[in-house]
Amino acid sequence: MVKYIFVTGGVLSSVGKGILTSSIGKMLQARGLKPTVVKIDPYVNVDAGTMNPYMHGEVFVTDDGGETDLDLGWYERFLDLSLKQSNNLTTGLIYKSVIEKERHGNFLGRCVQIVPHITDEIKNRIKTAGEKTNADIVLIEVGGTVGDIEGLPFLEAIRQMRIEEGYENTLYVHVALVPVLDVTQEMKTKPLQHSVNDLRRIGIQPDIIAARSTQMIDPETLRKIALFGTIPENAVFCAYNAETVYQVPLILDKQGMGDFICQRLNFNTTNKEYTEWQTFVDTIINPQHEVNIALVGKYAGLTDSYVSMSEALKHGGATCKTKVNITYLEAEKFEKNPQNINELDKFDGIFVPYGFGPRGTEGKISAIQHARENNIPFLGICYGFQLAIIEYARNVCNLKDANSIEINPDSPHPVIDLMPEQRGIEYKGATMRLGTHKINIQPNTIASKLYNQEDTMERHRHRFEVNLDYVETLKKNGLIFSGKSTDSRRMETLELPDKYFFFATQFHGEFKSRPGKPSPAYKGFIQACIDKKLDKPKPTFT
Ligand code: GLN
Repeated sequence: MVKYIFVTGGVLSSVGKGILTSSIGKMLQARGLKPTVVKIDPYVNVDAGTMNPYMHGEVFVTDDGGETDLDLGWYERFLDLSLKQSNNLTTGLIYKSVIEKERHGNFLGRCVQIVPHITDEIKNRIKTAGEKTNADIVLIEVGGTVGDIEGLPFLEAIRQMRIEEGYENTLYVHVALVPVLDVTQEMKTKPLQHSVNDLRRIGIQPDIIAARSTQMIDPETLRKIALFGTIPENAVFCAYNAETVYQVPLILDKQGMGDFICQRLNFNTTNKEYTEWQTFVDTIINPQHEVNIALVGKYAGLTDSYVSMSEALKHGGATCKTKVNITYLEAEKFEKNPQNINELDKFDGIFVPYGFGPRGTEGKISAIQHARENNIPFLGICYGFQLAIIEYARNVCNLKDANSIEINPDSPHPVIDLMPEQRGIEYKGATMRLGTHKINIQPNTIASKLYNQEDTMERHRHRFEVNLDYVETLKKNGLIFSGKSTDSRRMETLELPDKYFFFATQFHGEFKSRPGKPSPAYKGFIQACIDKKLDKPKPTFT
């Protein structure tokens, strides 16, 4: 019998439900259980793919090409899982499939309603997620905040699941903010109490309350939360700010959350195993080196836009016992005042991330040129890869005004072109080249040393690619394409072997990066940043 843990949030969004849900999964996994996770996003978009990162942060990409909420990235990093598109439900997705069934005639003669038809669709999809993966337990994180209009059908569905699946197979965790007043340093529980009331009003009584705060909440306040929440005192936990998010499962387990959940759901577990996780956390907390990285992007105002990339840099850092400090810079500042480019000299490495559209691209190209000409370690990912090609074409191959068709459709040298299969596509939803594809790695290259294997499976999300008409010119001028698609028609990695470290990938290694198992490109970049900082000869990665 599969069991279900539902996580809801109160007071405000971004309270850390994703990390809490991942942490619960980790506590169960540490006890030998097999969890899977479903994220519910109550917005009307069918998936996250058509949204600007400034809306909800980055779009995470699954192996099967799903464009999902970034929380799936946290689940994958914490639990080392490979989730599917179907692990992310949205209002748009649910309604779309119910409406399609209605048009098909599946409900002939009946009036189609939110209860039961929409709620049935939600419940079925949650249950299918468990069945497909043979999980012991499905964690369901309901996005948004309790009290939101658009979340109601989802909350109604999870309310019904208690009745259908039974008390011993379902558990509700509510996480809510406990703010501390600046002036008196007092911890206020009233907003949390109200959010619990909101939940009760629709028929859900939480079994566990996780109070989110900046620091550990005192016992008296925790008792008050239990009293007003109508739960035992040992069912209240405090998720306070940790040095690293990877510490959160350890913090909550120490407070007894893992044992409480297992007892409550009748899981007979005694041992817990955190050795590797603890080692990883220790290296993050006690690093031997430190590097400063400039991330030059167009969504620099919201760090969640680059969360998988930032985490991959940190994973690479941890493996090299190094703390990675990331400064998020708006690329446009290098366009407005070209002098600003010298700011980059104080960094140990320059990182140019993914991106779309023309804004900021000239600034990013200047940053790449600065990295190349001043031999500052450089890593480019996806758009960062494409812009590195443009920079090389313009400044080394003398192809004046070389560009991507995405930026200037009239460029005399379209070194980055639309992929052939993309021509004629008008629908924007889920139509990019998405998901995992195999990449062959050329022997005796930096890529082959970093990856230490003949091929690698990596995730993608792009419409444009290197124009094959320019590959010979770029190669003749010293650029090496060390990774290619299996038919050799798609350039996937580039490198400049004469530089200290200059490497870029069309694919997104960050989506598969895990604590203790960093993406090789990211790890290599950080290694180069440390070595350069320590005046060592350039790394050979052997
Ligand atoms: N805009 C580029 C493309 O669509 C790069 C995409 C990305 O960086 N993910 O090909």
